[in-house]
Amino acid sequence: MTDPYMAPAPIEAAVKGLCPRCGAPGLFDGFLHFAPSCRECALDYSSFNVGDGAAAFLILIIGAIVSVLAIVTDLKLSPPWWVHMMLWIPLTIALTVGSLRIAKGVLIALEFRNAAREGRIADRD
Ligand SMILES: [Zn+2]
Repeated sequence: MTDPYMAPAPIEAAVKGLCPRCGAPGLFDGFLHFAPSCRECALDYSSFNVGDGAAAFLILIIGAIVSVLAIVTDLKLSPPWWVHMMLWIPLTIALTVGSLRIAKGVLIALEFRNAAREGRIADRD
């Protein structure tokens, strides 16, 4: 899939680690670190600024899911406090680490697709 007009869907690019422009593999250089650029089409990945956006989304989404699960578990089963610790801390870490790569990949693909750039104040002159 190296046809420049066949860009992968953002979720496909994220899950498979594909370039958001040409679909060539190699978006990531390591588990969470982006490669400097695409080896096929030379898209400069460093020009995109995903920043902490993926982590912020995951904190909100996973935090809500784990909080609801913990509350429902406590209301239904009333387990001791250490059961909550044994359940929710590893689950939170696993969900966060497991989904961070995909979230970062989706954000960079969406930045490319929507030509998102840093906001600038227009000159009035
Ligand atoms: Zn590419």
